[in-house]
Parts: sequence; structure tokens; C-alpha cells
Amino acid sequence: MPRNDEFLYRLRAANPIESVMGGYVNLIRRGRNYVCNCPFHSEKTPSCTVFIDSDPHFYCFGCGAGGDVITFIMKIENLDFSEAVKLLAQRSGLELPQDSYGDSRLAQRKTRIYEMNRIAANFFYTNLVKGADKSGLQYFMERKLTPQTIKKYGLGYASDSWDELTKLLRSKGYSDDEITDAWLGSRSKKNDHVYDIFRKRVMFPIVDLRGNIIGFGGRVLDSSVPKYLNTGATPVFDKGSNLFSMNFAKNADVKRLILCEGYMDVIAVNQAGFDNVVATLGTAITPDQARLISHYAEEVVVAYDSDGAGQKATQKAINHFADVGVRTKIIHMEGAKDPDEYIKKFGANRFRILLDSSNDATDFMLDKCEEGLDLKTELGKVEFLKRASRVLAGIESPLEREVYISRTSKKCDISVQVLKAHIDTMLRKNRSAERKSQWKNITTSVAYRRDAINPASEKLRKEARAEESMICYLLRHPEDARQIAEEAPPEIFVTDFNRRVYSAMLDKMMFGEKFSLAQLNGEFSPDEMGRISGIEARNREFSINREAFTDCADVLRKNKKTSTSDGDLSGDDLRELFKSKKK
Ligand SMILES: [Zn+2]
Repeated sequence: MPRNDEFLYRLRAANPIESVMGGYVNLIRRGRNYVCNCPFHSEKTPSCTVFIDSDPHFYCFGCGAGGDVITFIMKIENLDFSEAVKLLAQRSGLELPQDSYGDSRLAQRKTRIYEMNRIAANFFYTNLVKGADKSGLQYFMERKLTPQTIKKYGLGYASDSWDELTKLLRSKGYSDDEITDAWLGSRSKKNDHVYDIFRKRVMFPIVDLRGNIIGFGGRVLDSSVPKYLNTGATPVFDKGSNLFSMNFAKNADVKRLILCEGYMDVIAVNQAGFDNVVATLGTAITPDQARLISHYAEEVVVAYDSDGAGQKATQKAINHFADVGVRTKIIHMEGAKDPDEYIKKFGANRFRILLDSSNDATDFMLDKCEEGLDLKTELGKVEFLKRASRVLAGIESPLEREVYISRTSKKCDISVQVLKAHIDTMLRKNRSAERKSQWKNITTSVAYRRDAINPASEKLRKEARAEESMICYLLRHPEDARQIAEEAPPEIFVTDFNRRVYSAMLDKMMFGEKFSLAQLNGEFSPDEMGRISGIEARNREFSINREAFTDCADVLRKNKKTSTSDGDLSGDDLRELFKSKKK
């Protein structure tokens, strides 16, 4: 792909990293820079920094993600380099230079799938409203959906035909391989014919945050199985990281999201006037989805079915949301099994009241502790207190914890001091266990975790550190590039990855004008860009002078001569590493 550094420079200037990232995460000002909860791993306290300087970029000290604004878009939108460049150009109204950023093969494949999905959605919709078989339309009408809602969600119907859609797609120039790639058709094992996957089902198109149709959910109208059939994994669809109706919910002006169990619930709630409602795509909620929700909401109201499966799923959701710092509330629907039924029975206003009066997750968990126990008996009380103590010790806010401790002690008729003392002991134990596991994480992650990006650095720790310092020196003194290339050519580097970085930087500095880390983008993968940003971020506080640079180069030359290095780490080494990591 031809690169156009001048255009990329303008693209970055037109898309300041803080304004682009601000659309996905909540940025908090810290001096000149910003910090935020990392969008790439679950956390409650911010460890991702956005550095605003001559070379704006982000780096997460927790998971090592990092890079410039293009890397950020590649990672968060799951795009390749040229797709990310296009998206940013679109966002800022810049025209792409001709003949550059041609689509990669994967990008082309994705575009074809989006097109096929759009054709399929139109086909299903026309089928629903104009087709001879009215059973789909009847189903939606019985569920009291208005024509406007049907249109808004692009609902459709896949008739009982074997290959109507496949034939339509073929007639528009798509090959059988492409049709199966999009998960719209499947190849019969018997005769190799391609037939439609979705048949005799009402269809729910699944739309991503940018308005692309990425897949479908199809529901049968009779009792055949599976009741719901969802698009399988394709290059554009991953059921674990998308949410149904998030394309509408992201624009809602409240910081609260309603999480329902099924597509019909979402549509019914949306039709009743709530845009801020989503559902998972036929699976329990994943950490990825909880993280996505945390970008848009501070509070989630879980409105799952009141049956056993729904309650189990609720507990799971509470845990995932706690991990990303989103407050969870649980709705209790008296007299209805799901939100769809509730709204039909009692109306939208009652549902709004229900939302506002929904219970805290803690109440829900404490209620669960009571299940199967008789609190009138001593035995029941003891077992209940055992279970409840775990919930109480898990409450983060001390004030909230006090309130619940006092309520629980009253419930079991025991002294509040005794219960409080018990919870305090548990908290101390939990904290020390947490500290231990943190220390373990640090030691394993720094020293023993396999390093996929620069595997050689595991054995050649000292040398890798020296190389990183040299890379940082070069970053800060691009004007010395020519001299440095002579004094310490890339060949003296001992780890492959660092050599690649150093050599690419020298190339760019000697033959380009102004160097920025971002210029390495495209040549290095998003994960590798994260590592490069990490090298920069970790060495930010240390100033490396020319003398130190020469010392580092000597370390490498010495290694080249002896070609041995002590790979074992002493306790002192670890402590030193830990110290430098904390800085
Ligand atoms: Zn992270």
C-alpha cells in the first residue's frame, strides 16, 4: 500500500487523539495529559494515559495497549490500517489522496459482506411487508409492533424457500464462496449446493455502531429448534463484542442503559419511548460487552426474565459490571415475566417508575442468599449470615456497607457490632489476598510471562533494556540520527524486535523531515505499536544523555562478543524492575 506521510500528518492533525478517544472513553484531565479507564481491559481505576505533546499518543500501563490515533481506531473498531485511515478521513472531512490506501484483501472481504447483509436485510424486509406469506407480519402485529418500529429496526421475514436469497445474491455478482463467507448461505454436504441458512424465521438485523449491518438473529414462529438462530463468526461479526440496538442506545442522552434478555424485549422497550436499551446476541454478557457499555453508561438496569436462567444470568452480569465500575440495578417485574409483557400489561409510564425504583445489585444478591433457608430457625440464620457476609464484604463504598450491615443484623436479630467486626476481619483477609495476587501478577507479568512481541528480551533482559534506552534517546534527538547510525548501527542490536524498531526509526529520520512515532504505524501491528508506546512511556521520566547512550551501545557490543547472557533473575532484579515500572 503506498504511504503518504504528508497526508497522514494532516489526518492526525485533523483528528486530535483526545477528541477521537473522548468519543469512546471518559477522559480525565491530568496536567497536560489525560487519563481514562482503559477500553481494552477491564478496570475500575484509570491506568491508560493519553500523552498530549508534539507526538500525541496513548499508553495503558495495565495491559500494554498503546499507539497513535490510528492505532487506537484500529484496535477499538477492529479495523485494518487502511480502514482506520478511511474512517478518520471521513470523520474529519478530509479527502483521501488518489491511488493510496487501496483496500487490503480483508477490507475488501468485509465490504462485500456488509453489502450482502444490506441486500439480505432489504430482501427480508420486503418479504415481510409485501410477501405472500404473512406469518411474519402477523407475528409482529400480535406483539403490537407499529409499522414505524418495524421500519426503524429493519425487521424482516425469511420465507420457507431453499435458495431465494442465494439466487438473488448470485444475480448481483456474489460467488457461492462469498455467500457462505457472509453466513447467509451454507454448502450442503450431500450435493455441494448452497442453500439459504435463514428460513421461515422473523429476522432481526444486527447493526454496529457505525451503521453497518453485521449479522442477523432469526426467530422461528413455531416450536421448531433452534428457537433463535444467530449469524456465526464472520470477518465482520463477533457475537461476544457487539450488542443489539447499541446503534440507537449510544445516542440516548442518559447515562443509564437498560439491559434486556431478548431482541423482542429491546424493541418493545424502545417503542415505549426508551432509546437506551440493548441486549446481548444470544449469549450471556461478556467482559467485552460490559466494557463497551461502560463507555456509554454509568448505570445499568438489568431487566432479565424472572425465571431461573434469567436470574443466574443477572448474577453474572452484576460481576462483569462491577469489574468495569458500572453501577448495576436490578428490575423486579411483579406480574410479568419480561419487559415486553410488563409494558403491554401496565404501560410505559409504570415501566419508567419501575426503572427509577429498581433495586440495587446488593439487594438482589442478599435476597439470593436467603433462597432455600428458613430464617426463623437458628441453622437458617447462621447459613444466611455466612452467605450474606461474602456479599457485604464485597461492597466497595464504606457508607453503603454500613447501611447494609445494619439492615442485615436487624434482619437476623444479632448485634450490629458483632457482624461489623466479622466483616472487617473478612475485608482485611481479602485485602491481603488481593495484595498477594497483585504482587504475583507483577512478578509473573514482568519476568515470567511469555513475551510474544519480543521473545528474545526474556533471556536478554539487560540488553533489551539498553536497547530501549537507545530507542528513547533517538526519539528525543532525531537531529542526531545520522551520527548515531554511524556510531551504533542497528546491527549491534541483539533482540529482533528492538532492532526492527530502531532501524525503521533511523530510516525515517534520515530520509524524512519531521519524525513522529505515528509514522511507524502500518509497518508495525497495533500490538507492536503498543509496545513501542510503552518503551516511550516507561522511559518518559528518565533523561538519557549521549554518554548513557554510548554505555548502552557498549553493553550490546559486549554481548555480541560473548553471546551469552544470564537469563536468571535475582530478587534484586525484580525489585528494581518493579520500581522502574511504578515510575
Ligand atoms: Zn489496558
